[in-house]
Amino acid sequence: MGETKYIFVTGGVASSLGKGIIASSIGKLLQARGYKVTIQKFDPYINIDPGTLNPYEHGECYVTVDGHEADLDLGHYERFLGIQTTKANNITTGRIYKSVIDKERRGDYLGKTIQVIPHITDEIKRNVKLLGNKYKFDFVITEIGGTVGDIESLPYLESIRQLKWELGRDALCVHLTYVPYLTAAGELKTKPTQHSVKELQSAGIQPDILVLRTEHELSSNVRKKVALFCNVDENAVVQSIDAPTIYEVPILMQAQKLDETILKKMGLPVGDTPGLGPWRAFLERRHKAENTEPLHIALVGKYDLQDAYKSIREALSQAGTYNDRKVSVDFVNSEKLTEENVAEALKGMAGVLIGPGFGERGVAGKFVAIKYARTHDIPTFGICLGMQCIAIEFARNVLGYTDADSREMNEKTPHNVIDIMEEQKSITNMGGTMRLGAYECILQKGSKAYEAYGTEHIQERHRHRYEFNNQYKTEYEAAGMKCVGINPESDLVEIVEIPKLKWFVGTQFHPEYSSTVLNPHPLFVAFIKASIESFEEKAKK
Ligand code: GLN
Repeated sequence: MGETKYIFVTGGVASSLGKGIIASSIGKLLQARGYKVTIQKFDPYINIDPGTLNPYEHGECYVTVDGHEADLDLGHYERFLGIQTTKANNITTGRIYKSVIDKERRGDYLGKTIQVIPHITDEIKRNVKLLGNKYKFDFVITEIGGTVGDIESLPYLESIRQLKWELGRDALCVHLTYVPYLTAAGELKTKPTQHSVKELQSAGIQPDILVLRTEHELSSNVRKKVALFCNVDENAVVQSIDAPTIYEVPILMQAQKLDETILKKMGLPVGDTPGLGPWRAFLERRHKAENTEPLHIALVGKYDLQDAYKSIREALSQAGTYNDRKVSVDFVNSEKLTEENVAEALKGMAGVLIGPGFGERGVAGKFVAIKYARTHDIPTFGICLGMQCIAIEFARNVLGYTDADSREMNEKTPHNVIDIMEEQKSITNMGGTMRLGAYECILQKGSKAYEAYGTEHIQERHRHRYEFNNQYKTEYEAAGMKCVGINPESDLVEIVEIPKLKWFVGTQFHPEYSSTVLNPHPLFVAFIKASIESFEEKAKK
């Protein structure tokens, strides 16, 4: 196609309007036209990466195949586009400054005074273009975190202004705003949008396309008004109305010809509108599934916040669709779980998912949930810390090591079934001792995991410090918990399961990160399938 085209997605008026979904939808529509597309997120905060951010503040930490702890929007990009993102797809102000300061210390600037303009902005621009230059993408979509008007966004806006000036038609800005509805006046209000566009204009950026988030249909008068007051073509004012599912958004955008408008503005041929067949088929199946009796899955964890387990929730709901069933994910706060209330808390649950996490808080409740699910043969899926808890619970209540623990929870535990392993150090790839990113795993034929994947050789993403302690492997296996997924390089145990039970699987890795709309994760699909079957069987009895 020639030169890489750059699309910037900015946001105004309020945060949480769904810039990530709009960026993903634009990406999806361009990809469907045969273009090679990637999406990147630039976050104006000073942390080097979101790895150390509290899930309460920033939602889940997503992990890329190359072991980067990333913003959760990268999960949307992967789920929508079916692509794999990398460290280069997520930049923060902290990374930009670190790189500039490192260069300054090395003397690269030859004694110059280092300033926000041009040094920080040049570094931002270099990073915007990095992926496009290296992999020859047709389109690089850059989502700018935060809201226009924030002090920390200014260097990003200045960089976009310069890039738009330098690249001409090869760069374009899509600005997302919010149009509130005043019930008392019975009116949609465009003033906040006008102000937000003024804010962008004062940074020297004229947005090319406006996407207006709204809870009510926008009349053509409202669109005309916004177009006139914001210097934007009328057909470049697009509404983004609340949809029953975020996966509907690409279809809603296509219906308003958002992709066509982008192509025209960038001087590209428009051609035929893609049918989006598989995507529409998914939506149709999902729509039917959503009208079924909900299947309740308990998500046992300590973060009582939707976004904290974003990828797990998405993976469960996708797996529901592919099993033609609505899945209701019911959060069960493990901090409140006790032997006395567990039966009540898990009543009506078809399956139990034991979530990942760090630290001791809420772990005792996870043991309680696991014991209940194990002894009542409720399909159970433990992820990362969830798998480690499955192993500890088994050691305590089946192997008879009542004091079994993980070295993370209890430094001096005599039976550290979950430990930091010596061999782990040799395969650690990044910061500290954390095992991060994709690792290989060999599955044992005949296991539930093998049955789900249908192949022996898999690769999954990790994010943890502690490991199953192989000293205890033979004992576990003799007592009925099998180690069915093994890392071929290090011999570390990646998957445990109890074959005697209906579906009881724990994975040291995070399968949720690689579940996409068109390729749901096989373990999640198998877990939901087993949950449906076992629930129906129990109902018959
Ligand atoms: N805290 C555990 C570890 O570091 C599990 C981490 C996780 O669940 N991602 O090994």
